[in-house]
Order: sequence, then structure tokens, then C-alpha cells
Amino acid sequence: MGLNWQGGLMDRQKVENLMRELLSEIGEDLNRDGLKDTPARMAKAIEFLTRGYRQTPEEVVNGAIFESTADNMVVIRDIEVYSLCEHHLMPFFGRCHVGYISRGKVIGVSKIARIVDCFASRLQIQERLTNEVARALRDSIDAEGVGVVMECHHLCMMMRGVEKQNSTMVTSAVLGSFHDDPATRAEFMTLVNKG
Ligand code: ZN
Repeated sequence: MGLNWQGGLMDRQKVENLMRELLSEIGEDLNRDGLKDTPARMAKAIEFLTRGYRQTPEEVVNGAIFESTADNMVVIRDIEVYSLCEHHLMPFFGRCHVGYISRGKVIGVSKIARIVDCFASRLQIQERLTNEVARALRDSIDAEGVGVVMECHHLCMMMRGVEKQNSTMVTSAVLGSFHDDPATRAEFMTLVNKG
């Protein structure tokens, strides 16, 4: 799946039927009051949680790119991340910190969060999500360098299997000068860890 991959529209009725089958297989009584509208609600939720398949980073950025002569580092900390792991379809969530050095173009801050959302609302592993965010940001403004650090809790680890409730997974991706220049990378890591 490349950066510009776009899935087709989701057939909500079809997903609703699948959810009905799933609930029945679990052993549930589909006629009980509380579950009456659950398949429809699940289909709607799944459609929303996977909306990234029907978006591209170009669309979500929507031209919010501006000329700038500044060439200092910009860091945005604590962007919320909500995603689904591709191994269990269980949520992982946490925070992401993004930094870049411009080469004449800057991007609206809210658009960085939209790029994160675009990739987070596909089935993911945290490592790939981190990389996809970094590459999409670099490509959207032709940045000199980009760094992304992501810290997430994985419910598939917390609720099942090893049940490690307090472990956080940390991933990072560095591109351009953030990769090539240790001083730039160190400055980014210092800013990320402040506060
Ligand atoms: Zn998982």
C-alpha cells in the first residue's frame, strides 16, 4: 500500500450483515434489546475508524502550505493518535511528536494532525504508521528534514496475551537532515522530551 493508495467505498450494509454473523457466532442473542442496533452501529464505527482508506494525505492537507523564509526547526508535541493494529484489529493509542526544518515552505499545524489521522485510520503497525507520517510530511512541503516520535499503548498487549498493562511502545522515523546530522536529531529529541 503506497502513500496514495485509496480503497473503494465501504458497503455499510454488507459490513452490518457480517457484524450480525460475528455477534451470533460469539453466542449472542441478536434479538435482545441492547443489541438491536449494534450491527448498524458497528458498521458505522468501522467505516469511521477506517476512513483513511478513503483519503489521501494530499486531500487532507488541501493546499494549506505557505511560503516562509524561516529555516529553524518547528516541533509540534503531543498530537493524539488513535489507530487499529493490523494483527488483532484492536486499538492502539497514544501521542506523536513531529518536527521539521523547512526549505521555504511550512504547513498549517492542524494539517499535521490531519496527516497523522489519515494514516492512523487504516489498519496499522506503529512502526509503519510512524514512517508514513514522516514521509507524507516531507513530501507535502519538500522539507529539509523531518522527525517523528510516537508513543502508544496497545490494547492487544494490555487486554490479552502477555497482559503487560503499563508498557509503551516508542517508535521514531527521521528523514533528511534529521537522519544525516546528529546535532539536528539531538535538538529534535531534546525539544520532544521537554515538558
Ligand atoms: Zn495487535
